Order: sequence, then structure tokens, then C-alpha cells
Amino acid sequence: MNKNTNIAILGAGASGLLSSILLSQKGFHVTIFEKNNKVGKKLLATGNGRCNVTNYNISLKNFYSNSNISLIEKNITNFSYEDCKTLFNKLGIEFKVVASGRAYPLSLTSSSIVDILEYEALKSGVKIELNHEITDIKYQNKKFTLNKNLHFDKLIIATGSIAMPKLGSSESGYQFAKQFRHKLIKPVASLVQLVSNNKHLEVVSGVKIEAMIDNQRGDFLFTKYGVSGSLILDLSRKISKQLQTQKTVKMSVDTMPDFSFDTLVNMLTKRLEHLKDKELNLWLDGIMNKKLAKYIMLNSNIPSHIKYAKFLSQKEIINIVKTIKNLQFTITDTKGFETCEVCAGGVELTQINLETMESKNQKDLYFIGEVLDVDGDCGGYNLHWAWSSAHTLAMNMQSKTK
Ligand SMILES: Cc1cc2nc3c(=O)[nH]c(=O)nc-3n(C[C@H](O)[C@H](O)[C@H](O)COP(=O)(O)OP(=O)(O)OC[C@H]3O[C@@H](n4cnc5c(N)ncnc54)[C@H](O)[C@@H]3O)c2cc1C
Repeated sequence: MNKNTNIAILGAGASGLLSSILLSQKGFHVTIFEKNNKVGKKLLATGNGRCNVTNYNISLKNFYSNSNISLIEKNITNFSYEDCKTLFNKLGIEFKVVASGRAYPLSLTSSSIVDILEYEALKSGVKIELNHEITDIKYQNKKFTLNKNLHFDKLIIATGSIAMPKLGSSESGYQFAKQFRHKLIKPVASLVQLVSNNKHLEVVSGVKIEAMIDNQRGDFLFTKYGVSGSLILDLSRKISKQLQTQKTVKMSVDTMPDFSFDTLVNMLTKRLEHLKDKELNLWLDGIMNKKLAKYIMLNSNIPSHIKYAKFLSQKEIINIVKTIKNLQFTITDTKGFETCEVCAGGVELTQINLETMESKNQKDLYFIGEVLDVDGDCGGYNLHWAWSSAHTLAMNMQSKTK
């Protein structure tokens, strides 16, 4: 029965490749159309070339949507970390899990994921059409016609988002969704570096610390243009959205979260006793990175005539600690779609049957992966959504009733 059902998948990325294998194994005739000259170009770039496949601590709280996120609860619980691991083990991929729960292929190379998915797809009988961009879809006589002359019973949109267009991302999935009367939540860049107009950033550029913002701790990197690091990437979704309606966003960073305000005041006051003859520029060396120390001083309103620590008053000590604990940034922009890892926004969820991934507007049309309005934290969550939505679709796909 399944053999009589021809399925087209648009996009040989994470979700497209996995769904093609699972559907082909169920006996469906599957063809993938990929605009790039090879499969999985974005997958190759994931996890700095190591591919953070999933996370040991998968939970709904790591996912976001403009719709109620509990809509995807079953997709996540029915495809847990263990399910993901079992599936990839079957394909021949062993996982290495690091302290943060991030899971990588044991080879620590993303190409092993891409190679194995491609190999398995071809072995299962999937036809992969490379350099084949789909630009036109028509639905007539219960068939989808692609690019005017390719006919299919069912169509799966797995075209991803517009994050990092150089890897193949395009707007086409969004356009096709609109064509079938789907509502689109305007995508914004997420997991992206932030641009700041703070002065003197060149002084501190390249310094990486563990910082805390809004009670969230993580890696924080100062750059010439602004800020980066995993803490920033995780907060970027919220800030990207705020920048849609306001010109700038204020951000306060605790650069020494292990120390309370009072502890630092005491520490610096004592330091004043035995290091009073030290030049101000060097006075915080030994407490923090010297470039950061210079930047903190530049932002602490210390009168320019004060050159040595011994001339600091208690008021100035308090100002320095305020800067350390509440380093202020004015964020003016993100680095945008060109560099972001994912998009927040996409095809709205309430018009999708999330038990099958089928459109509620158009029978036999399906959406999986990042084209949908679901995004996750840094740490393997976005690929987990690609795998879990592909898995939901494949497990529930029924043959076309003629
Ligand atoms: C640099 C970088 C690093 C990342 N690292 C991680 C990580 O370590 N862990 C993690 O969980 N997530 C990571 N992500 C996010 C993750 O890669 C994506 O969420 C995931 O690949 C989305 O899968 P997808 O199948 O929806 O889309 P994609 O994997 O983007 O695949 C979509 C495919 O569709 C093709 N396509 C688009 N339009 C058409 C068309 N009209 N016709 C034919 N083909 C078309 C594209 O060329 C592309 O190959 C990273 C992203 C980037 C950019």
C-alpha cells in the first residue's frame, strides 16, 4: 500500500534526511529535492563542526514558540533523549555526552552524521535530487505538482529557516506555507551575537568570562562589535524580539557572579591598604583579566586626575564594584540572519496537526523542522526538534487513500 504513495521532501537537511530514511523504511517512495550541491550543508557546520546532535537533559523548558509551547510536549516526550540515542545507535552512530549534557557523535565530527544519514537514505531507496530547487508548487487533482512537471501524492516541507543563508537557507518554506494559507510568525535572528554601541570595547575585545545576566550564568565574550558567548546566544532570542519594537535594549552584566557586592567592597577596601601605591590601571590585576580590569576602570567614573589607588575614596570603590556587578551595555542590533544559528518564528503551530505534522489547511502537506515556529536553546535542542518532528511525521504517516 505504502509503495503506491509517492512522497516529495523539500530540503536534505536534518529533518528532511531523517524523515526520508524512516518513511522509506516504511515502504513509501521518497524523493528529496535539495537546492545545494550536497546534502546536510548546515548540519556539517553545526557544533563548530562537531554536531551537537541532542542533549541528555531534553525538556520542554528549552524550547520556545509564539504559540503555547506545550503544543509540542508530546513531540518531545515521545522522542526523548533515549529514543534519539537508540535511533542514531541503530544507524551506527555512538554518542559522547559532555558535562553540560550536550551529545555529540563519538567521532566528534559532523561529517559522520551527514555521511551516515546520506548512506542510510540511499540504501533505503530514497532518491536524492541535488542542485534541484523547488520554486513552484501547485495542488491539483489530489496531487502536488512541483516546478510544473513533478507529481507527488504527499509533500513535506523541510526547508529550514532563513538562518545563515550561505548554507542554503531560504524563504521558500515560508512562501509555500503562505500559499496554503498558513500564518507566518515573522522570523527573527536567534542564537546570535549582539551589537553594542558601548565605548572602549576594543580594550576588552577577546576576553571571555563566566558572567551572569538575569540570574542566568554562562560564557560571555567581549568583542569589538559587542558581545557573544553561549550566555548571550541563549539570551539573544528575547533581545532580538525586543529590538523589533524598540531601538535599543539595556543589558546589565554581573562580571563576578561568585562574589556578593559587599564581599567585593570589603576585598577592594582591604586591597587599598596593601596595594595603595599601585597605578590605577594595574590595581585590579590579580582579581580579573587585565583587559577587563582596564575596561571596568574606564566605566567607573573615576576622575581623570586619579592615577594611583591610594587616591580612591570609598565612593569610588563602590562605583568600581557597581560596575563589576552591573556592567551596562546598550544593545543596538543583532548580527542578523547572516550569522545567527536559528530563527525564532516561522510557520504558526496551531494550523499544524502536531500528532502527524500535517497541515490543517491542506491535506497531504506536512511541515517539519525549523521552518515551524519552534526554536530551542543552544545545546543540541534545535537539532532535537528537527529529529523529533521528522520522527513524529514518519511514525504517523498513512498511505494515500486513492
Ligand atoms: C552555524 C550553525 C551551527 C549550529 N549548531 C547546532 C548544534 O550544534 N546543535 C543544534 O541542535 N543546532 C545547531 N544549529 C541549528 C540546526 O542546524 C538547525 O536547527 C537544523 O539544521 C534545522 O534543520 P532543518 O531540517 O529544519 O533545516 P536545515 O538543516 O537547514 O535544512 C534545510 C534544507 O533545505 C534546503 N532548501 C531550502 N529551500 C529549498 C527549496 N526551495 N528547494 C530545495 N531545497 C531547499 C536547504 O538548502 C537545506 O539543505 C546550528 C545552526 C548553524 C547555522
